[in-house]
Amino acid sequence: MSLVVVGSMAFDAIETPFGKSDKIIGGAGTYIAWCASNYAPVKQISVVGGDFPQAELDALTARNVNLEGVQIKKDEKTFFWSGRYHMDMNSRDTIETQLNVLGDFQPVVPESYQDCEFLMLGNLAPSVQLSVIEQLRNRPKLVVMDTMNFWMEIAMDDLKKTLAKVDVLMVNDSEARQLSGDYSLVRAAQTIMKMGPQFVIIKKGEHGALLFHEKKVFFAPALPLEEVFDPTGAGDTFAGGFIGHLAKTRDISFNNMKTAIIIGSAMASFCVEKFGTQRLREISKADVDERLSDFVQLVNFDIALG
Ligand code: AMP
Repeated sequence: MSLVVVGSMAFDAIETPFGKSDKIIGGAGTYIAWCASNYAPVKQISVVGGDFPQAELDALTARNVNLEGVQIKKDEKTFFWSGRYHMDMNSRDTIETQLNVLGDFQPVVPESYQDCEFLMLGNLAPSVQLSVIEQLRNRPKLVVMDTMNFWMEIAMDDLKKTLAKVDVLMVNDSEARQLSGDYSLVRAAQTIMKMGPQFVIIKKGEHGALLFHEKKVFFAPALPLEEVFDPTGAGDTFAGGFIGHLAKTRDISFNNMKTAIIIGSAMASFCVEKFGTQRLREISKADVDERLSDFVQLVNFDIALG
């Protein structure tokens, strides 16, 4: 069993109504790795500059994240992203994106990653995501892709090419509408399924996530939290929990994907409690189990029909 994760490793600067962070460690690939490594060993593909702290790489290695596929460009700068959230933490503005090392990133899949069974394509240029799919000699059992509006605006053709080769697409509601050109999320998912993936997950921030497959749909709520401190990385953490559970159980049925999106939602609910990856680094198995039982309570009810 092998799980390969592709995604940005970054410096982020975040402003929320409740506080402001300095330059902290972020990146889609970073969040996915911190989360998925709770479930399965991770083989990471990314690129960082010489300014990325060695201690961060060591911390990931200690979590069973193999960094052989992470290029370190000593004389260049790590990808930087900054964003600002408003009182409604579901929406944010990107203040700045400095691609730096990501600008001309050519991923190289190490030989030791060729046993990849589960491939998580975290948010990155779709051409980079496609290059990883094409370098794998055997098609993985499951390919999951995350993407964002940024790539729809500047690389829609590449995005559609990559989409045609994946099994599961994860996007948020506004991205699903942008990609399909349809306001109805049910119709948007159907349109996206015709573009390649047999499964579509539409994330709705604090309003949960929907999983579509053929004519079936499943809804997972987000846990109502008293305080959301920083939503950055929630989507990536969700992705990490989803793919981590599938890689651990090696079962890609619709039923097991339902469990996987509950696990993704539970992990994402931790991520938002502190700035950056902080909370993901602290949680224990007992914390996760307790949160999963909160989810069971949240959606469990009896009803007498007829
Ligand atoms: P999320 O909140 O789950 O959408 O992910 C936020 C993370 O995505 C941040 O840590 C950013 O560093 C990273 N990110 C933002 N924009 C991009 C981009 N264009 N390409 C790759 N990663 C990005």
